Amino acid sequence: MKSILPLVLLFTLISCATPETLRDQYNVSWVKSRKEVPQENWIYTVMPRDRMASFCITSQNLACAWVTPYTQCDIYLPIGYTQYMKWHEEQHCKGWTH
Ligand SMILES: [Zn+2]
Repeated sequence: MKSILPLVLLFTLISCATPETLRDQYNVSWVKSRKEVPQENWIYTVMPRDRMASFCITSQNLACAWVTPYTQCDIYLPIGYTQYMKWHEEQHCKGWTH
């Protein structure tokens, strides 16, 4: 039993230190970096594409999510958004970054 203990501790340290990752359909590499905001606190706002810049900082952002850790996630999407855009922003609410 004594000889197994160091291995168990090593495994625990490795599993804590290795971040959870995923790669999506557009080859975006994601890392789990914070705790998920509860889904009931996700707030969706859909607006004309030409208004997105004032919410998402630059007009190059097709959509965005502002995350207040643990408490709220504001998702901004343009009219006619794709399912991927919605999914992408929701991943930010779930604590993933890329
Ligand atoms: Zn993103």
